[in-house]
This record gives sequence, C-alpha cells and structure tokens, in this order.
Amino acid sequence: MKIIVLGGGLAALGALEHLLAKPNRFNEIQWIFPKNAAELSCSYNSTAVLALQGIEKGVSPLGDDLFDAYFSMKEFIEANSPEGITHCSRYHLKNSSNEDKNQKLESRFKENFKKIKENDLGFIETIVEDAYCFSPLIFMNWWHQRIFSSSLVNFTDDLILGIDGGSVHGQKSLYSADVIINATGSFGITTGLVTEKVKTVPGHYFVWYSPQFENQKVDNYFLKSKSIILTFEGENLIYHSEYNSEGPCLIWGGSSESDGLMGPRIEFLETKLLEFFNTYPQFKFSGQRELFTGVRTKGPKRRPIISREGKVITMSGLYKNGYSLGYYLGKKALESLN
Ligand SMILES: Cc1cc2nc3c(=O)[nH]c(=O)nc-3n(C[C@H](O)[C@H](O)[C@H](O)COP(=O)(O)OP(=O)(O)OC[C@H]3O[C@@H](n4cnc5c(N)ncnc54)[C@H](O)[C@@H]3O)c2cc1C
Repeated sequence: MKIIVLGGGLAALGALEHLLAKPNRFNEIQWIFPKNAAELSCSYNSTAVLALQGIEKGVSPLGDDLFDAYFSMKEFIEANSPEGITHCSRYHLKNSSNEDKNQKLESRFKENFKKIKENDLGFIETIVEDAYCFSPLIFMNWWHQRIFSSSLVNFTDDLILGIDGGSVHGQKSLYSADVIINATGSFGITTGLVTEKVKTVPGHYFVWYSPQFENQKVDNYFLKSKSIILTFEGENLIYHSEYNSEGPCLIWGGSSESDGLMGPRIEFLETKLLEFFNTYPQFKFSGQRELFTGVRTKGPKRRPIISREGKVITMSGLYKNGYSLGYYLGKKALESLN
C-alpha cells in the first residue's frame, strides 16, 4: 500500500509521525511539498506557544479537542525532547482598568493555577501556568530531519496543482497512491486543493532582536530566563533566549480574536502594546522591530477538520493551535482509515 502526504507543515508532520509509529500498514510513503517549505507555510510564521489556557474537558467539542491535543503534544515533547522548545512559565497579567476581564480570567483558570502577588518582575497580581515556547525554525527543522531519516519516506520537491481521485498532479510529475493526505494549509485553500468550508485568516506579530528593557531589574530577569511568556488582553509578549541565529528576541502578538487585514491589525498590535506599557511600565523596552505574517486556516466553529472523500483525507482548520493540533490530528487522520 502506498500513501502520499502533501505539505511540510505541522499537520503533515503530525500525520507522518503517526504513520512511522505504525509502519506495517503502508510500505511506501511519498512526502511532497515545495523544497523551501517555509515560504508557503504558516508553521514557520507563528508565535508558537503551547499552553492549556485553563481549558477543561466536557465543556465544548472544541475544548475537548484542544485539551486532548495539548496532552498528546506534551507527551510527544517529553518522550522525544525535540530541539527548539523551551519549557517555561506563562504569566497572565491583569488589566487594572478592566475588572470584567480580570474576573473572566480568574474564573477560566479557577484554582488550578498558582497566583503570584508582587514578584521580582513587580507584577501586581497574576496567574501563572505551565507552557512551551517553540522556535519555529529550529523545531520544524528537527521534525523534518526526524521524518527524513526514515527509509520508508521518499521526499519529492514539487508543487501540487490538483488532486483528482487517486491522482495527484504536480508541476513536475503525476503521482498516484492508495491514500492521499492533503495537509496543504492556507495555500491549499487559496489554490482550490482544499474544498472544505475553511477560511484563511492572516495573523501578524512583531519581533525585536536583542531587545533592551529600560528597567535594569527586568532586563536581568529576562536575560537569566530561557523563555518567558507574558499574556495581556489576549496578546503574548514572548522572550526567547535562543530563537534563531540572530540571538535572543521578543515577540509581541498572536492570540487575540481580531484577525483581519494588514493595516488595522498592525495598528491594533501597536495600540495594545502601548496599553500594556501604560499598565506595566516596568516592561518598556527598545530595539529595532520586524513584522511577520502567517496565514492560518479556520474551520466552522473554529474546530479542526479531518474529512475523507474517496482516497483523499484532508487535514485543516488548525487555526491558532497548530502546535498541538498538528500532532493530534495526525493520529485522527490515520484512525479515519479504519
Ligand atoms: C500570527 C500567528 C500566531 C500563531 N500562534 C500560534 C501559537 O501560539 N500556538 C499554536 O499552536 N499555533 C499558533 N498559530 C497557528 C499555527 O501556526 C498554524 O495553525 C499551523 O502552523 C498550521 O499548520 P499546517 O500544517 O496546517 O499549515 P502550513 O504550516 O501552512 O503547512 C502547509 C504546507 O503545505 C505546503 N503546500 C501548500 N500548498 C502546496 C501545494 N500546492 N503543493 C505542495 N505543498 C503545498 C506548504 O509548503 C506547507 O509546507 C499561529 C498562527 C499565526 C499566523
């Protein structure tokens, strides 16, 4: 039996990881995506945080998926120690001028999380949770190499133009297989390879390399940490000590609801950053910033999608949780073959 996996992002990697864990079923695995995977992939343009965020089971189908996805990815990380991940603390900072939101934050996290009053960083009050912070480039490279090292996997550098039954039409060749996994992300939607009801949603974030905090105590604290995440009103300020070859960096952006076009979203990020500095002036920093954009896929009710039509299984709608859902949906995709 032969299977083709299309795409080099988190969804495709999740499927391949589970395929290789049960190698008996398929004796030939062809993995196809354009060689420079990062160019068309949201997985490289992501703020890339993994945390449970107070989600509990039994509240909603989406919550159940995210809960299970979080724990299965955590298990994968603990078993394989991938490169490019740091285990860190995520501090949810309150906004003193918005009591309503503070109460929602408290009720979401309930008593499961430790509260800290007045610590080294001068927080007024915060809730702290366990999190993982990814350096997308290092982590994706690690996962790609892990899959490439299997003798069962044959990689083909091609851009797919169409899928027709069991045939996959590439720019360079025509391919066929018994099963095809289509994990082509947002580009797959815009080019018509994915026809499910999924939307493409851009997301933006800023990166500062070698940032400097005005407050010396805070500067020292960050420099001592491997990674640290501060979440304020839905946005994350993420410090990475080893992000890529350019050294430590700060990221701002990522998790708010107001996705949208380039202009308004950037203004929104800037306004939120000012609001954050006004509330927590100890975190003011300076440095040269760069803007990054990724395009994610969003299914109805934000739920991830696994669908099957004939020989083709489509994985999509990883939306804001690709760093846990990719691995989790990979398992579901293979289960859908049973
Ligand atoms: C700003 C931002 C912040 C985010 N923050 C987080 C976060 O903190 N935590 C989290 O878990 N998630 C986060 N996400 C979401 C996460 O990054 C995505 O859900 C995830 O990367 C999607 O993975 P994917 O494999 O579905 O798609 P992609 O990574 O886009 O992969 C698609 C793959 O298909 C290939 N491809 C496309 N078209 C073709 C074709 N025609 N032929 C062959 N191959 C093709 C591409 O080259 C690529 O390799 C964020 C996203 C954004 C934009």
